[in-house]
Amino acid sequence: MPELPEVETVCRGLALKLLGRRLTAVEQRRPNLRFPFPEGFAARLTGRRIDSIRRRAKYIIIDLDDGTVLLVHLGMSGSMVVNEKRPALLDRHDHVVFDIDNGTCVRFNDARRFGLMDLVAAADLAHHKLIRGLGLEPLSDEFDGPALAAMLKGRKTSVKLAIMDQRLVVGVGNIYASEALFRAGISPKRRAGTIAGERAAKLAAAIKKVLKEAIKAGGSSLRDYVQANGELGYFQHRWKVYDREDQKCPTCGGPIKRITQGGRSTFYCPKDQK
Ligand SMILES: [Zn+2]
Repeated sequence: MPELPEVETVCRGLALKLLGRRLTAVEQRRPNLRFPFPEGFAARLTGRRIDSIRRRAKYIIIDLDDGTVLLVHLGMSGSMVVNEKRPALLDRHDHVVFDIDNGTCVRFNDARRFGLMDLVAAADLAHHKLIRGLGLEPLSDEFDGPALAAMLKGRKTSVKLAIMDQRLVVGVGNIYASEALFRAGISPKRRAGTIAGERAAKLAAAIKKVLKEAIKAGGSSLRDYVQANGELGYFQHRWKVYDREDQKCPTCGGPIKRITQGGRSTFYCPKDQK
């Protein structure tokens, strides 16, 4: 499933290819993804110029020259692939095909169809039902130790589940939560409300660090991404604790432990994380 770093990389890759370009044709090849497409979807996009491409949480926000935003979510299996020219044969999971004014084409492919697309006026984006409840962006300047401590204050849930709560902070998926807690030396089982001061500062910094490292790793796949038949592969990382049950902790050499929290696996070092 694409996580925040993958979505950020997709945004950068699309921006490299599409900024200032016009959509000459849009082919919508089925009535719905996770939700129905908005009425007049293809017609409303045709002829529009792409003015900016940005990210909010795991949403791709494409600003068009008439003040409309094309909101895209990749769901579980979605991808946006740029082709130098439109392929003669489309894949059965290519649900939307955008023809660009320089002869290139972008295909939205999504086998499992958990992705979505919507059109919204840029001025109303902050109030959109999928956007309005979202928490802080972890890579923004507003997200720091004091902000993290404030959002966790009084919370009795575990810190791991709290930092994965999208209403508090967005884009910290299961892998990144385990990795950030390891780097901050904080037990995933610790009560969220006890994270304050130095501990909160360390955790906020660790969350930024793991996400930035993943985005940096994505830079190399960006090259593949813009190649003719480039599928964007999701990043293969060498994790420090994630998916490493009973293997050696890179810090102390002791065994990594796996527990289940909120139905998901958590990996941590009981010796280094308190
Ligand atoms: Zn250890």
